[in-house]
Amino acid sequence: MDLRYTPEQEAFRKEARAWLEAHVPTEPLPSLDTAEGFEAHRQWEHELNAGGWAMVPWPVEYGGRGADLLEWLIFEEEYYRAGAPGRVNQNGIFLLGPTIMEYGTPEQKARYLPKMASSEEVWAQGWSEPNAGSDMAAIQATAALDGDDYVINGQKTWASRGAYADWLFGMFRTDPDSERHHGLTFILVPLDAKGVTVRPIEQLDGEAGFAEVFLDDVRVPVANRLGEPEQGWSVAMATAGFERGLMLRSPARFQNTARKLVGLYRETAATAERIDPCLRDEVARCWMDAEAYALNTYQTVSRLLAGGKIGAEASLNKIFWSELDMKMHETALRLLGARAELLPAAPAASGVGSWLDGFLFALSGPIYAGTNEVQRNIIAERILGLPRR
Ligand SMILES: Cc1cc2nc3c(=O)[nH]c(=O)nc-3n(C[C@H](O)[C@H](O)[C@H](O)COP(=O)(O)OP(=O)(O)OC[C@H]3O[C@@H](n4cnc5c(N)ncnc54)[C@H](O)[C@@H]3O)c2cc1C
Repeated sequence: MDLRYTPEQEAFRKEARAWLEAHVPTEPLPSLDTAEGFEAHRQWEHELNAGGWAMVPWPVEYGGRGADLLEWLIFEEEYYRAGAPGRVNQNGIFLLGPTIMEYGTPEQKARYLPKMASSEEVWAQGWSEPNAGSDMAAIQATAALDGDDYVINGQKTWASRGAYADWLFGMFRTDPDSERHHGLTFILVPLDAKGVTVRPIEQLDGEAGFAEVFLDDVRVPVANRLGEPEQGWSVAMATAGFERGLMLRSPARFQNTARKLVGLYRETAATAERIDPCLRDEVARCWMDAEAYALNTYQTVSRLLAGGKIGAEASLNKIFWSELDMKMHETALRLLGARAELLPAAPAASGVGSWLDGFLFALSGPIYAGTNEVQRNIIAERILGLPRR
């Protein structure tokens, strides 16, 4: 194992750093869960794409720069280091994009990937339904074949940024006699199609990026199917692997939070009369865990570059990063004491930063991308080989 970067990788890092330093907005953009913030983030994505940095590991013809996954990790480190905006099209670039790369036809790759890279088309994920969350195999929304079209009916919910997105990818029951994970098909649905109603859902912080999506006799061409008919479950599991196991949450995100936490500890220790010594240990533990997660991800990427695939171990990953994120934010709130509850706009809030906001979002980590209880079931059955009951 050689943990040093090659001269080419160092040069790549330098180029990425220089571009980001010259282009990252100096002021934070408004929240991407508001209409104004969503469009501001889309504009940023246009700029990133124009510079060739939207999705570095993709082939050049689809809007990437043909980098490998190690260079992608380096890019992510630079992206977070530069304090660049959140990725408004993360469901597209990190989840659907790699799935299209694996299952899409050449026509689908050419049609969808470049507009995804530029965020001309922003994607929402349409898996959850009112009666199909953890139990995704209980999906009820249907897609009936009618000539060259699917006619879709049903309801999807909790679609992140669905209130503003342009397209939705989802699973639909195409075999009406099927049960569970059989008979499902992965279909791409434009959200401006006739029969689509998008209803925003207000979140804990008052912003309404979430949406429920109602589909009433929505016609989409058969060409919008990704993968084979009735094989949607396998396609979706590939998407879930990218989501939990690698792309949705790169280590740089947590290393960045860990660095800020160390900074917060130093500032607090410099001014406070007394500081709970346990907090020092917790800060050190968070920093070490973020580093451990980074090394583990480098190992995963090395395995993928050698021809391996993401498997059930993605569930270990997902539990680790979601619990680490909560721990880091809880520790920050304890360091801040009573000030932790101040909103950034409050007069005495200087130095409080976005820890409270980050904490509220971290609470959702053990729920989205499949709850941590469900990940533990997967680990028990598929990694440890324990009986189902
Ligand atoms: C911030 C956020 C963003 C999201 N974005 C999207 C999105 O873009 N697209 C989308 O489709 N969905 C999205 N979701 C929805 C998310 O996927 C679901 O909330 C999640 O799968 C859980 O489903 P549920 O809410 O129906 O809870 P339920 O499935 O009803 O679960 C309730 C509780 O029971 C537990 N439980 C359920 N089954 C089992 C079991 N077999 N064993 C042990 N425990 C179990 C769960 O762990 C949970 O604690 C998002 C959720 C959040 C919080």
